[in-house]
Amino acid sequence: MFGALRLGGKEFQCEKRSRSLSALQKISSMIWGRCLVSAGRQGCRCKVSFIKRHYGFLPDDVKSLRAVVSPDISKIRNIGIMAHIDAGKTTTTERMLFYSGYTRALGDVDDGDTVTDFMAQERERGITIQSAAVTFDWNDHRINLIDTPGHVDFTLEVERALRVLDGAVAVFDASAGVEAQTMTVWRQAEKHNIPCICFLNKMDKPAADLKFSMESIRQKLKANPVLLQIPVGSGKNFSGVVDLLTNQKLMWKPGSARDDGRVFDTQTLDQCDEPELVQEVGEARAALIEQVADLDDEFAELLLTKFSDDFDAVPPVELREAVRRVTLTRKGVPVLCGSSLRNKGVQPLLDAITAYLPAPDERHHDLVRWYKDDLCALAFKVLHDKQRGPLVFLRIYSGAVKPQTAVHNLSRNCTERMSRLLVPFADQHVEIGSMSAGNIALTVGLKQTVTGDTIVASKASAAAAARRAQNHSGTGEGERPGIILSGVEVPDPVFFCTIEPPTMAKQADLENALSCLQREDPSLKVRTDPDSGQIILCGMGELHIEILHDRIRREYGIEAHLGPLQVAYRETVLHEASATNTLDRTVGERRHVVTVQLTVRPAEGAACEVIFTKELEEQLTAGTKEAVKNGVDSSCLQGSVLGSPVQGVSALIQSVTAEAGTSPTMVSACVSRCMLKALRLAGGQVLEPVMSLEVTVGEEHLGAVLGDLAQRRGVVRDIQSRHDDKVLVASAPLAEMMGYSTALRTLTSGNATFSLELDAYEPMSAQDQNSLLRRVTGLL
Ligand code: GDP
Ligand code: MG
Repeated sequence: MFGALRLGGKEFQCEKRSRSLSALQKISSMIWGRCLVSAGRQGCRCKVSFIKRHYGFLPDDVKSLRAVVSPDISKIRNIGIMAHIDAGKTTTTERMLFYSGYTRALGDVDDGDTVTDFMAQERERGITIQSAAVTFDWNDHRINLIDTPGHVDFTLEVERALRVLDGAVAVFDASAGVEAQTMTVWRQAEKHNIPCICFLNKMDKPAADLKFSMESIRQKLKANPVLLQIPVGSGKNFSGVVDLLTNQKLMWKPGSARDDGRVFDTQTLDQCDEPELVQEVGEARAALIEQVADLDDEFAELLLTKFSDDFDAVPPVELREAVRRVTLTRKGVPVLCGSSLRNKGVQPLLDAITAYLPAPDERHHDLVRWYKDDLCALAFKVLHDKQRGPLVFLRIYSGAVKPQTAVHNLSRNCTERMSRLLVPFADQHVEIGSMSAGNIALTVGLKQTVTGDTIVASKASAAAAARRAQNHSGTGEGERPGIILSGVEVPDPVFFCTIEPPTMAKQADLENALSCLQREDPSLKVRTDPDSGQIILCGMGELHIEILHDRIRREYGIEAHLGPLQVAYRETVLHEASATNTLDRTVGERRHVVTVQLTVRPAEGAACEVIFTKELEEQLTAGTKEAVKNGVDSSCLQGSVLGSPVQGVSALIQSVTAEAGTSPTMVSACVSRCMLKALRLAGGQVLEPVMSLEVTVGEEHLGAVLGDLAQRRGVVRDIQSRHDDKVLVASAPLAEMMGYSTALRTLTSGNATFSLELDAYEPMSAQDQNSLLRRVTGLL
C-alpha cells in the first residue's frame, strides 16, 4: 500500500503513486474541515499532504497529521532557536524534524537541502534569512518551532520571532562558547523575559570545551548555567551523554557516517564500570542538586525535610520539577550537550524542550486578559505567496480562529475575511478547521494586515475588551487603555540606494513588488526622492539590500538596477543659534506676510522637539501651531549639511506674526526656511553610524586584520584569546565597512569570521566630515 487516509474508522487506500494520490489529496481536503472538529486526536490520519519531492518526502514515511488537531494548551511549546551564525541552528532544527518523524531524510545545510532554509537564497548561501515556522510533535506535545536567522542584518526577524515565543533554545558551538550574535539575541530574549535552554553543539570537535562554554555563559551572558548532562568521550570519540537527573547513560553507536542516530542505548550508569566517569557524574550530580536547592526554595525544603541523610536519593521527577521552576523564573538555564551533525544528543534536547520550557498559558501576557475567551492575536509575520497572496502568521493569545470568518484588524481599524487556515510546516502548509489560544497559525486572505498588527474577533469584541480594561483601571472617558498588543520594534535603516526598473513600462510592477516586500519586511523602507523622482530603498545592511534585489529579480521577474549603496547619515547641531525670517508673497489676489523668530539648541533624543514660549502657547491657534510644527519637521527631514535627517535638536519658537489671510502652508514654509538658517548658524554636525565589530581570526593573520582595520578608521577595544584564535573587539564607521566580508576573506584566506552590529550614531571628526562633504559635492 502506498498511501492511506483513515477518517473515523474508515480507511481510504491507494496502491499506486500517481493519480490515486491526487484523489486522496482531494478527499482529504474535502473532508478535512469537518473531520478535524469531530475526529479527535487519534482518529484522523492522513499521510498525503506532506508530499514534496524536493525534500524526498514519501507519504508512508511521514508522520500522521494527528498533531494538527488542536492539542491541550499545556502541551504546546512555542519555541525559537537562536544562535550565532554557524553554531548549528539549521542542522539542529533538521535533526529535530527528522527524529520527530516528519522528514524521512536528514537535510544538510552544506548540501543546501534543509527544510527550514527554503528560500533559494538561503539554500545557496547556507544561512537562514527568513525565520520559518515549523510545527511537529514530540512526547505528545506540539512544538511550534521558529528558526531564527543569525545574521545581524536580520535582527528584526529575530525580534519578531521572540515577540511571539514562549521559550528558546540557544545553540552554541561548544568550541567557541558565547559569540557576539548570541549576546545580542540573548539580550533580546531577556527583554521579552523568555525562558531558555542552552545546547552546547559540536561536542565532536577536538576543541569542544564544556568548562570553557559554561564559564562563557556565566561571564558573557551573565546567566546561571545549570548543567544537566556530562558528555561521554570527547572530540571524535564523543559518543553520548549521562543524564544527571536519572543517572542514565545515553549512547549513540559509533557507527558509519550513514548512522542517523535514531537509535541509542540507555543504561543506568552503575551497570558500567568506568570509575572516572562514575566519579565525575557523582560530583556533577551533587553540584546540580546543590545549585538547584540554592535557586529553588521548594526543592531546598524537600531536600532538608525528606532527604537530609542522602541528598542523592532525591527522585529524578522532583529534581526535574525544580529545574523547570528555575528555568521558568529565569533563575537558571539548563545546559545540554550534543552534536547535531553527528546525530547525537538531539532527542534529549527535545525532551528538555517539553519538560522545562513553558506552555503558552504559563506565560504572562498582560492585556490579553481583557479579551477573555474572545480572539486576540498578533500578526508577527507576512509572507507573500504568488498563488495565495499574502500569508499572515498569527500568534493566538486568546480565543480561536476559524477559516471563512471575518476578523477585525485593530491596528488598522478594518475588517477582513480569512479564507483559509493552515499549519505552517516550512514551505508546506496543512489546512485546518480551527486553531485555539497558544498556537501559531498561518492565515490566507488577510490583505491589509501588516507585521505587528493586533487581530481580534470584531469591533464589538474590541470595544468590550476596552470597557473591561477601563472599568478595571478606572481611567476616564476618552482615555484609551491599552488593548492593542505591542508590535515589533522596527529599527531605522542604515543603508540606502536608488532602484530603477529596466524600462519605464516596468515601473508599476516594481512599485508593486516593493510594496509586497515591505509588508513582509518592515525593516525595508521605500521612498521617492522629491528632487529626482527616483525610488530609494533603505535597508539594514549590504546583505539585506542584496537579498531584496535578488528577490525582486527571482520572485517578481524584474531586472531592477541598483545605484551605489550609501550610508544613511544623520545631522545634529553643536551649539545654540537664533534666526528670524520673513516671507512676503502674493499669490493671485492674496498677500501672505509672516515673520518667524526661533532658537535651535542641542537636545536629548532622536527627534526634533518643538517648544513654544508661554505666550505663544496661549496666543497661537491650534492650526497655526500645527503649521509651525510641519515647517520644523520638513526642515529636520532635509538637514542643513548633507541633506540627512536632523536629530537631537529642540526648536524654541519665540514669535510668529502673520497678517490676516496668510495661509498655514506659507507659515510652514517660512518656519522651515528660518529653521534651516538657524541650523546652519548652530554648526551642523554630521552623525555617522558606527558599528561594533568582532573578528575571530588565527594569530598568524591578526596583524593583517589590524592593519586593515586601522585604514577603516577602526578603534580596537580589546583582543581576547580563544584557544588558538584571537577575538578582536573593535568599533568602526559603517561607511568604511562596505565589502568587509570579501576583504577579510582575502586577508585571511577565509580563516576568519566576523559579526557587525550597529552601535550608535556618533559625530564625525571635522576632518572626516570635510572629506565626506567634498566627496558628496563632487569636489574630490
Ligand atoms: P546555523 O548558521 O547556525 O544555521 O548553522 P548550520 O546548521 O548552518 O551549521 C553551520 C556549519 O556547522 C555547517 O557546516 C554544519 O555542517 C556544521 N555543524 C553543525 N552542527 C555541527 C556539529 O555538531 N559538529 C560539527 N563538527 N559541525 C557542525
Ligand atoms: Mg541556519
